[in-house]
Amino acid sequence: MTQQSVMITGASTGIGFATAEYLAAKGWRVFAGVRKQADADRLADALGEIVTPVLCDVTDGDQVNAAGEAVRAALGDDNLTGLVNNAGVAVAGPLLHLPVEDMQAQLEINVTGQLRATQAFAPLLGAERGRGGAPGRIVNISSVAGFNAMPLVTPYACSKFAMEAFTQGLRRELMLYGIDVIAINPGPIATPIWDKAEELDPEQYAHTDYDGPIRKLLGYMLERGRKGLPPVKVAEAVYAGLTDAKPRLNTVITPDRFQQWLLSVLPARMTDKMITKQLNLTADQQSS
Ligand code: NAD
Repeated sequence: MTQQSVMITGASTGIGFATAEYLAAKGWRVFAGVRKQADADRLADALGEIVTPVLCDVTDGDQVNAAGEAVRAALGDDNLTGLVNNAGVAVAGPLLHLPVEDMQAQLEINVTGQLRATQAFAPLLGAERGRGGAPGRIVNISSVAGFNAMPLVTPYACSKFAMEAFTQGLRRELMLYGIDVIAINPGPIATPIWDKAEELDPEQYAHTDYDGPIRKLLGYMLERGRKGLPPVKVAEAVYAGLTDAKPRLNTVITPDRFQQWLLSVLPARMTDKMITKQLNLTADQQSS
């Protein structure tokens, strides 16, 4: 039987690393996308020969295509079993004052970057006629932020709402080749993404009406993030997405299922009130 194989973007830390480790332990051949040679060396040391690090900055089209060619050469005529579009960053800030470049960077990595990776690896999943084996699958790491936009982290939510549309449209386009496309929607997962969120300097918004709310949001996010589920929980869902006979189209992995359910059933205006009250974003809180 041919060995199962997977390409994971953003595998240097967090969910991507945990997924690489998990699938390698299952005997999968893992191609792990990283941006720095130092991370490639670290992964090779930590995970052994079954994992091949490949340089793949999703904002660099030439590098993504070169990664595709490297994986093609390693696989020969065999299909790639899976592509996990995981690379991502989270940008926060009030929309009225957010530097436009911050929004562009957010979408460039989390949306356009997934398109680049998909175009480079879909041929190996079976979108190129004449390759051997069953068609592969694409698992997109979206978020619960793909269903519900928290204020002040709207750039991130924009990218994850886009990821939902990307997943749905791509699934319909790739039915032609039998390549299934699904999304995983994590809530808070304890990964380095939260340390990076801490790097946001709220001082840049100190002169605005969002000074208090953004500080409150950062504190709340960091606390929830650090108490998040371990990333291996997402790795398990990715594995199920790649191997179940009929994988779920969206799998929510979160410690606060009740809250997520509530957000999905409450009328939007009521949710608006609840969230804005928590963050001191209502007009009466601002004036008092
Ligand atoms: P992380 O910061 O540990 O991992 C992000 C990875 O993406 C890193 O390996 C980083 O190097 C990589 N990356 C960033 N920019 C890149 C680029 N231009 N090209 C290639 N790789 C790049 O954080 P994580 O939590 O493991 O995040 C992984 C994915 O999970 C992201 O898409 C994130 O939005 C999503 N997610 C995370 C959480 C959470 O609570 N941690 C919740 C929902 C969704």
